[in-house]
Amino acid sequence: MNDIRQTIIDSLNCNLSENSEFLETIQNLAETEGEETYPILLNILTHLEFNTKDAKSNWHQIIKHQSLLETKLERPVKLITAICDYFSEVSKNLQTPTMIELQVLEETRKVSRSDGLTGLFNRRFFDETLEGEINRAIRYEGNFSLIFFDLDNFKNLNDTWGHLAGDLTLKRVAEILILEKRTEDIACRYGGEELVLILPETQKINALVIAERIRQQVEELKLDFDSKSFGVTLSGGVASYPTDAQDTKSLIHAADVALYQAKESGRNRIFLHAVDKRHYIRIDFAGEVQVSKVDPEHKPIKVQGKNFSSSGLLFESPVSIEIGTQVQVQIADQDIEKPIIVKAKVARVEKFDSYFDIGIAFLEINDTEGSEIAQTLAKNLGIPIHQISRKNDAGI
Ligand code: GH3
Ligand code: MG
Ligand code: MG
Repeated sequence: MNDIRQTIIDSLNCNLSENSEFLETIQNLAETEGEETYPILLNILTHLEFNTKDAKSNWHQIIKHQSLLETKLERPVKLITAICDYFSEVSKNLQTPTMIELQVLEETRKVSRSDGLTGLFNRRFFDETLEGEINRAIRYEGNFSLIFFDLDNFKNLNDTWGHLAGDLTLKRVAEILILEKRTEDIACRYGGEELVLILPETQKINALVIAERIRQQVEELKLDFDSKSFGVTLSGGVASYPTDAQDTKSLIHAADVALYQAKESGRNRIFLHAVDKRHYIRIDFAGEVQVSKVDPEHKPIKVQGKNFSSSGLLFESPVSIEIGTQVQVQIADQDIEKPIIVKAKVARVEKFDSYFDIGIAFLEINDTEGSEIAQTLAKNLGIPIHQISRKNDAGI
């Protein structure tokens, strides 16, 4: 979105007098970036918010209005003159338009949405952007994630090293966020020592990877202030639309709850917003799976998956594997981006006439991560998710 805005501003700056070039830029943007271009364009020109349909229709009216004015006045009319006349005299969206140099306006806009200390976007911009992101995700049936970070024991850091050292810490942590986030992610200062990342089109598992990378970088950060050296850690909570919440308030709450759990369990860690703990997720996964004993000599065997839950996998195997054996499982399917590889332990073996049903319990991944993998698998393979009450069913 910011790219569209910048392209329009650059084009306005270089060729406002070259009407045809500017119109061509807009036309190209609408073709490559979509009709979202129109509300952004009109917002730059008028500071007003239009929906896509109205913005597009107004833009086409403006172009017509410009040629109408040229015909009536029998001289060239600048696009900006036509815009002003159109909005004040025809559509009447503007009552008392004022003139301001575009660069000055953009500078004010930049200042009004950024946080003075860290240079990150401020809370107001965060609120607006989150609302926009939810609307976009609803419209395009997309998804996105939110990471809430909070510096650990920051009050103590201020008390020990001084408030200025605290300020420096905030700045350096913000730099890590900017460096580690992807271009499209939006980093904001939510308040005090709370920082937040909005990750468009990102599933929770991928948000976790980014959050964890940031956590590690902060842990490794060496701060020097007033010839004193010290360090800092942070905790994070991750929540995603639409799996955890479907509106801004509940999504913030979900990320906040996860953050609170991260703090409760000892700080310097990232927690995912947990699905209902009383339930576990199961999907009827009938794809091919490769199982190998955790032993480099052992050749993987191909087995048929039966179901996948947050804590393990049930599959049908032509050969038996002893209970307690540690195995590595690889699930690869053309509909899955990357193969899923997990370590597990054989927990149950049942013999049938020509095959064995083998249940394995995942090692190294917790229930929440297991649920995330199950949900990702279900989504990619287009199969339903079953929520099963722990009271009625003991597991795999
Ligand atoms: P926890 O690990 O539970 O988050 O502990 P904490 O001490 O970080 O939590 P608490 O919310 O009690 O303290 C936050 C502190 O952050 C208190 C406040 O003085 C400090 N703080 C907030 N904004 C700034 C700032 O801009 N600069 C500095 N130096 N300190 C700030
Ligand atoms: Mg705090
Ligand atoms: Mg804190």
